Amino acid sequence: MKALEQMETVVVGAGILGAALAFQLRGKGQTVVVLERARQTATGISSRNSGVIHAAINHPPNSMKTLLCHRGNQLLRAFLASRDIPWSPCGKLVVAQNEQEERVLRELARQAPEAELRETADRPHGLRARRALFTPRTAVVDPVALTRRLLEESEALVLTGQEVSDLSPCDGGVSFHIGADRFHARRLVNCAGLGAPRLAKSPPYALARGSYFRIQSPLLDGQGPLVYPAKAAGSPFLGIHLTRTPGGEWLLGPDLEYVNHEDYRVDPAAAPRFLQEAQRYLPWLVLQDLQPAHAGIRPRLRADGWSDFQILGQGDQRQLVHLLGFESPGLTSALAAAERVAEIWSS
Ligand SMILES: Cc1cc2nc3c(=O)[nH]c(=O)nc-3n(C[C@H](O)[C@H](O)[C@H](O)COP(=O)(O)OP(=O)(O)OC[C@H]3O[C@@H](n4cnc5c(N)ncnc54)[C@H](O)[C@@H]3O)c2cc1C
Repeated sequence: MKALEQMETVVVGAGILGAALAFQLRGKGQTVVVLERARQTATGISSRNSGVIHAAINHPPNSMKTLLCHRGNQLLRAFLASRDIPWSPCGKLVVAQNEQEERVLRELARQAPEAELRETADRPHGLRARRALFTPRTAVVDPVALTRRLLEESEALVLTGQEVSDLSPCDGGVSFHIGADRFHARRLVNCAGLGAPRLAKSPPYALARGSYFRIQSPLLDGQGPLVYPAKAAGSPFLGIHLTRTPGGEWLLGPDLEYVNHEDYRVDPAAAPRFLQEAQRYLPWLVLQDLQPAHAGIRPRLRADGWSDFQILGQGDQRQLVHLLGFESPGLTSALAAAERVAEIWSS
């Protein structure tokens, strides 16, 4: 760990946010060290999500979630366009089954820039819908491959098995511990996912678990758009939707359940509830088509409603930055969040 003493910039956490930060800071003549508690990179929230590159239509206009998602979508597509990381620009349908949901679609269309959403009569996948909007800017990506590629291209020094604690801004930098040893960096960004509030000495997250079921049915081929039920912008839950991996594996989920600790088991008994929700738009689906898949935990700032991302600077030169509440669309927003942090440090 001797090398650390010479480091200027420390990134805590090797998930998508830490990777995006390390990538953003590359080539600026500064040494960057990424410190990760786990034995491997990309094993946290970034490995347990839908892998959707969202269009910025799900959150209130001008919120940080909308602005960073919009910019992050552009940056991510540009990054992926010239690399061999698995991704698919599949698009997404948002579907309404009744008048109230049609009103939600009208409101989403009113708020979204024109290029982002258009009415469509297409009904792929044997889909049932009274009305549907299509967004071409939605895509899916392999989030683990993406995170690891960003880290690789960042040329940062990535050290795993290093649990950081006791962050505090001090004269000319930030002090921190790894085990009993004390270190110093000129600046440090806390991208520790579910571990971030503890490092920021802020209230713990509400742990909002989302489970997924895999759909195995010959009626779904490996292609075509994702399907989401209509939910108003700013809803704390997007509804159980139909999503897929870039490799063509279809999934239903995630649902929403608050838990007391990190528990990633998927309860097979939840299958009928998933089925009921999904049959509203996939009427042909049967229970035998569903198999338990994975679960993830959203780092949620409040359990009782919508909240925005937080990027908090601490210290006289904001040399200590915390990224808090990066639930969805955090994967999409990561490169844009990294730009924001770089701006804070260059101002
Ligand atoms: C169910 C679900 C579905 C989602 N779907 C989408 C989606 O489709 N699209 C989208 O844009 N976003 C989605 N998200 C959100 C997205 O996954 C997250 O915003 C993003 O992965 C957060 O990345 P992160 O780097 O902050 O966290 P992580 O990936 O968890 O990385 C944090 C890292 O910090 C490490 N760490 C923790 N404490 C310490 C410590 N003290 N010292 C050192 N290291 C530490 C952890 O081991 C971990 O590796 C979803 C999230 C969930 C839960």
